[in-house]
Amino acid sequence: MSFSELGLSDKVVAAVTAAGYSTPTPIQAQAIPHVLKGRDVLGIAQTGTGKTAAFVLPMITKLQNGRARARMPRTLILEPTRELAAQVAEQFTKYSGGQKLSVALLIGGVSFDDQDMKITRGVDVLIATPGRLLDHFERGRLLLTGVELLVIDEADRMLDMGFIPDIERIGKLVPFTRQTLFFTATMPKEIQHIADTFLHNPERVEV
Ligand code: AMP
Repeated sequence: MSFSELGLSDKVVAAVTAAGYSTPTPIQAQAIPHVLKGRDVLGIAQTGTGKTAAFVLPMITKLQNGRARARMPRTLILEPTRELAAQVAEQFTKYSGGQKLSVALLIGGVSFDDQDMKITRGVDVLIATPGRLLDHFERGRLLLTGVELLVIDEADRMLDMGFIPDIERIGKLVPFTRQTLFFTATMPKEIQHIADTFLHNPERVEV
């Protein structure tokens, strides 16, 4: 199996090749075709399996068409920590190559106004920790009604950190007819319950 067989855009395949990766990891090989088809995905995978690229690569492919509008991100990625959010943002930069994508990072501990300015200009991809995202929303500076694709990453860590109420709230602010990708390393009962409320007829991928 090669990256070009998965249905990714030529630009993404070129960027992955330039990054030195020749073969998709198992989570990438299994998840990417489903994401490209528009299916919801429940991914059970640890960090280190290549799961970030499993959602970043098809997302970049899908974002080729359409344009970002002011204050209405097209995709939303939720991460439990600032560090993870920053790492995901780096992967977008690495793999988006020639394609012009606007990415904004909404994390605590950095200037609210700089983040607000970016959102106002329009972003394709918003990568956020739940608290800071809701902060922007409550100030009336952000609309989530344009979100076509939602990623909940490291869901079990979100649970450990007490973010589930925030996640549930965010779930009510995004459109019902979006695509959702849900990743977790473990599947306790609480996570299964959250997954059930967020996902519609998902493909389950486990590595
Ligand atoms: P992750 O599980 O997303 O944290 O990724 C773990 C590491 O694997 C990262 O440093 C990636 O750059 C790297 N990686 C992702 N995909 C591949 C691949 N197909 N082949 C080799 N390394 C990869």
